[in-house]
Amino acid sequence: MSSMEERDVGVAAAPGSSSAGLGAVGAAVEAAAGVAALQEEIGIRREGPEPHQDEPPKKRVRAPEGESGKLEERLYSVLCCTVCLDLPKASVYQCTNGHLMCAGCFIHLLADSRLKEEQATCPNCRCEISKNLCCRNLAVEKAVSELPTECTFCLKQFPRSSLERHQKEECQDRVTQCKYKRIGCPWQGPFHELPAHEEECSHPTKTGTELMGILGEMDQSHRRDMQLYNSIFSLLCYEKIGFTEVQFRPYRTDDFITRLYYETPRFTVLNQTWVLKARVNDSERNPNLSCKRTLSFQLILKSKVNSALECSFLLLKGPYDDVRIKPVIHHHSFSNDTNETEYVLLPISDSVECNKLLAAKNINLRLFIFQVQK
Ligand SMILES: [Zn+2]
Ligand SMILES: [Zn+2]
Ligand SMILES: [Zn+2]
Ligand SMILES: [Zn+2]
Repeated sequence: MSSMEERDVGVAAAPGSSSAGLGAVGAAVEAAAGVAALQEEIGIRREGPEPHQDEPPKKRVRAPEGESGKLEERLYSVLCCTVCLDLPKASVYQCTNGHLMCAGCFIHLLADSRLKEEQATCPNCRCEISKNLCCRNLAVEKAVSELPTECTFCLKQFPRSSLERHQKEECQDRVTQCKYKRIGCPWQGPFHELPAHEEECSHPTKTGTELMGILGEMDQSHRRDMQLYNSIFSLLCYEKIGFTEVQFRPYRTDDFITRLYYETPRFTVLNQTWVLKARVNDSERNPNLSCKRTLSFQLILKSKVNSALECSFLLLKGPYDDVRIKPVIHHHSFSNDTNETEYVLLPISDSVECNKLLAAKNINLRLFIFQVQK
């Protein structure tokens, strides 16, 4: 603990930290690599030679439109996200100079800056960006929702705002499943072929024995879910249960290679003192260069105990955050020699959810500890 110092990694790198010594060029290289990785993930192929690494990412090369281009095509290049070059699907943010970023890219840039211990900047003009400095642009959001877009099934054009309903409920070509899916029919196809399939579907005429086999498999996956919920309910019957809000704060190691990690202040649950630690991508050297993001955590007992403390524990989202975490119960027997658990994965649904956590100043979660009765 003593060799590390707490600081707000989002604001400034303290002198002497290695990332502060990177200089502008190094930072730009890393930023370019991060954006390139991001663009690769969302499937953007850049045409032409790679841009020089010092330059902010290039705009998508578009066919010359001039006067003859359709209005919506010209608007497309005006309203697209300056990072991923796609039309934003939800919120649109802008830097103080008006450069637009979709919510996903904005959060990704903020998360990157935390990982690199640098102030986040607009990839276009390098002005500082943060949740306070950037605001939504409702006019762009509304304009985008009026632009026509293609239905992925029937390829007809619709305003973005009505596309979701069309694709879900109205499109004759939308992918549907047979009503006998519940007894194992794997058929799926366009909606207009559904009546014909259901007419001739073989599943309603299957024998009882055949159906029993299919239902058995379905029961098994249902049983796994039920097991999880039942074990949570039986934990709730324990005599000794403690829970608390925990706040992970970002720190940097003082090693030659600095690494971001998270740690909570000491907290008390079940009359014992505990600390939680978390790390990004299992302490990968440059997590900002990879698009896949994971968080794993470790629970540490700080108090001395007379006898082993057999515990089950789980982390859930805090009361004021909206990250999606699937509950997973872990067990550990804490003693003076085994006072730390292994690092276990925080079961967040995907990297987008993980970036949501990383983009915030602190990570707030709720920890439950159940002491196993002897
Ligand atoms: Zn974007
Ligand atoms: Zn800008
Ligand atoms: Zn359609
Ligand atoms: Zn069927």
